[in-house]
Amino acid sequence: MTLRALDDKTIHVVASSPNLLICLDYDGTLTPIVSRPFLARLHPRARIILKKLSKMPGVKIVIMSGRALGDLEKQVGLKGLGYVGNHGLERNLGGHPEIDSHAIQLRGFILKLTDALKRAMKNVPAVLIENKTYSATVHYRNLSPSAVAKARRIFRDVWSNFSAKIFFKIRPGKKVWEIRPRRGCSDKGRALQLILRSLTPAQRKGLTTVCVGDDKTDEDAFAVLRRSDVAIYVGESQRTMARYRLRETGAVLDLLEKIKSIRQKASRVQSGGKPLIKSTGRSKLGRKP
Ligand SMILES: [Mg+2]
Repeated sequence: MTLRALDDKTIHVVASSPNLLICLDYDGTLTPIVSRPFLARLHPRARIILKKLSKMPGVKIVIMSGRALGDLEKQVGLKGLGYVGNHGLERNLGGHPEIDSHAIQLRGFILKLTDALKRAMKNVPAVLIENKTYSATVHYRNLSPSAVAKARRIFRDVWSNFSAKIFFKIRPGKKVWEIRPRRGCSDKGRALQLILRSLTPAQRKGLTTVCVGDDKTDEDAFAVLRRSDVAIYVGESQRTMARYRLRETGAVLDLLEKIKSIRQKASRVQSGGKPLIKSTGRSKLGRKP
């Protein structure tokens, strides 16, 4: 599918939906990718926009990330938003954190695997092995090409000796290998379906879902969107199911800002008696994501 730039007309149609669910990835979408995950701080401008947008009627914002839920909530630091961590295994959608029951049963294996990887890779400089309790990540962003090859060999070796591998899957991402449970809510597509099921009939009326992400893990969410929803890929790649593209994280913030302004203007007009955001029960986009 040819990726399109997001034009103002499309943004206006999306922003004017009676209900808007905005699912945003964190790393590479709201913040630029950095050498170490803990350095990915949310820009104050992003925090201000997210806060204002999340308080608008008919808008629900969910940050969906591969990070552990606690880490994600700390990085964003805003109440009133939904949070999905560990690609879906941990969720806080309404102030009550939930953990996938299958993932809870498997966390001992994640600990064993990450311990084994740390021991086996102790002589691989700059590799970062992250135990996120319910999933694990091997970061190889800071490695030389020869060190990546060495890390890959060791990873395969440890994996082949991992007694519980039948319960897990490996998913590659941007300079990472992710290890997650096969079953349960272990990808963003399943997480998005769960979020949609949790909406009330009033919240579903005229709903448009906007999903924004920059990595393979986001494709799972793009895949479950309806024709009338909007998938936005952030970056330069052509290999995505998304219909629209934004080139960098600053453009994502610009988009959120535009959505906020359009809804703000519409609600001012509405309070003056002429509704701009009408509940038609269906979106005007009617296209594949
Ligand atoms: Mg990302």
